[in-house]
Amino acid sequence: MKNVNSFSERIIAWYDINGRKSLPWQLNKTPYRVWISEIMLQQTQVATVIPYYEKFMSSFPTIADLAAASEDDVLHHWTGLGYYARARNLHKAAKTVCEQFQGKFPENIDDVIALPGIGRSTAGAILSLSLGQHHSILDGNVKRVLARHGAIEGWPGKKSVEQQLWTLTDKLTPKKEIRKFNQAMMDIGSAVCTRSKPQCERCPVAIDCQAQLSGRQTEFPGKKPKKTIPTKSAFMLVQQHKGEVILFKRPPTGIWGGLWCFPQFESQQALQDYVSKEFSDKNIDHCEPEWLAGFRHTFSHFHLDIQPVLVKIETEQNNHPFENTTMEQNQTLWYNIHHPAKVGLAAATERILSHLVALSAADPTSGSR
Ligand code: SF4
Repeated sequence: MKNVNSFSERIIAWYDINGRKSLPWQLNKTPYRVWISEIMLQQTQVATVIPYYEKFMSSFPTIADLAAASEDDVLHHWTGLGYYARARNLHKAAKTVCEQFQGKFPENIDDVIALPGIGRSTAGAILSLSLGQHHSILDGNVKRVLARHGAIEGWPGKKSVEQQLWTLTDKLTPKKEIRKFNQAMMDIGSAVCTRSKPQCERCPVAIDCQAQLSGRQTEFPGKKPKKTIPTKSAFMLVQQHKGEVILFKRPPTGIWGGLWCFPQFESQQALQDYVSKEFSDKNIDHCEPEWLAGFRHTFSHFHLDIQPVLVKIETEQNNHPFENTTMEQNQTLWYNIHHPAKVGLAAATERILSHLVALSAADPTSGSR
């Protein structure tokens, strides 16, 4: 092969012409701003992240602001982005930075990796993009480009395959122009070397890409070994009084930790028993339970088939019909579906609330505004 520039030279030349340079987190770069963007961009597309990022930075412009915020407020800003552990870890890490580093984001990579929710690749991305430190990176996009370019067999989630990819990224990452190189690798992975339809004709390293040369692009990276996940079911109780519904805050750890949810039951019988106890014992009139449209929510390790059951409370009183419930959750909230409180909502809660808003728009008498 003649006169082919090195891998990194071609990547950097591509960046100079095609790279993204004016995304919100690429302006006024600081470790804090890049950190927030890197966490939001995990499992989420750039276009989706931009409005969340801008709102988040305007509410929490400094690490100290983030550390001082309530968890509810932080989760509220994350509602809709999913993977809420990311937000909880950001919040925890901001507190650690304030306690251990006087509010200044650490500049030593080992200190950064020690913060909650930050792995080696994310730490490398933060310090290289914001401060120009020399660190290689290996996020999902970079893994795909390298696995294809080097025809690295196997699933990157497997330790030995991941180690091979780290060795490769360490070898290919140049000493100079680290910001451009790392940004370009992430950009090429997300915009050119895409999962199902890589655009090899636009790729700066196509000429020596082993997957492209053998027409096996979609065989890399290797797929995760399939395992079937179980299906569980849940009944969610939607207790509505005028335009408000009762939500409970989940404990901080576990599924939907720290987020607001409808009371959940494993069986219809358990839900009915609860309704009898809460409503009949306290002599509160209510309509016949009504089954709303069911749906499936899939977690990484199981499917949850959710059946929301609406129970409308019939009373002319404006005050809430019961304040104390027998549910053993931490906190209760009467949530107004037309004037949402600033709290973090579980994905299933959001979906049911949207349904209630749609029902209320179709029948304005069903829930007062
Ligand atoms: S040539 Fe195609 S498969 Fe190879 S790295 Fe570039 S876009 Fe990906």
